[in-house]
Amino acid sequence: MRPEGRRAGGAIGPHGPGQPGGPRVRLVPGALEVAEVAARCRSWDEVVAESRRCTACPELAATRTTVVVGDPPAGLLVAGAPPGPGIRRPLLALVGEAPGAEEDRSGRPFVGPAGRLLDELLAEAGLARAEVAVLNVLQCRPTVSARPGGALANRAPAPDEVARCRGWLLRKLDLVQPDLVCTLGLTAATWFLGRRVTLAAERGRVHQVDGRRVVVTYHPSAAIRFGPAGAPMAALRSDLRLVAGVLAESTPDSPSGTVQQ
Ligand code: SF4
Repeated sequence: MRPEGRRAGGAIGPHGPGQPGGPRVRLVPGALEVAEVAARCRSWDEVVAESRRCTACPELAATRTTVVVGDPPAGLLVAGAPPGPGIRRPLLALVGEAPGAEEDRSGRPFVGPAGRLLDELLAEAGLARAEVAVLNVLQCRPTVSARPGGALANRAPAPDEVARCRGWLLRKLDLVQPDLVCTLGLTAATWFLGRRVTLAAERGRVHQVDGRRVVVTYHPSAAIRFGPAGAPMAALRSDLRLVAGVLAESTPDSPSGTVQQ
């Protein structure tokens, strides 16, 4: 897929093109086409298949090894599958920034050092990673080369890349229907809150965004960077406990506690 037909200048709401309400984002070339392809996907497997063909961000598509769609929660039913136990509710979705080198190689989110710390802190809070949706704002690794021919390093996602990949994340959230979202890092916090934020000011409480409950906190890589005694580590640990507490108090939306696609 190489969406190029639409020009910049419009805007799409947080739920996709043409949807009213909430913070609006700039529509960049390719974003609407991604959103349209993503919206047609009827299952997680279709999102995976279509995402692998996505070249809306040419630079990222040229340097990626894999497209890291994310981990669906255990029990997510796929179209055509026999009825199963379904997803255990209430359901948490963790949303980070973008794949790093290890994620790009493995095709899975949060498997590097930051992922290992996240697993540890989730377990400490009593949350099972297998039952959580683990997603990123970007599905492809953004890289920068310090010198010609040198190894690629991670970089922050560019605003246009975030805008293009928005349709994929929106569709995955639609399929998973999380009861609570916990954002990890500034990029994901900004994506959900729809405005410039500082994590120090917004963390530690539950936000209501377009009917969705959102807790924002630091990315585990910040916790690693500042060390075990640093403020991000303490905040991340405390915020994941808050998330666990909110989930524990939540009532399932449906008696069966399952999601059908
Ligand atoms: S980052 Fe997202 S929109 Fe860009 S090429 Fe990868 S999957 Fe497509």
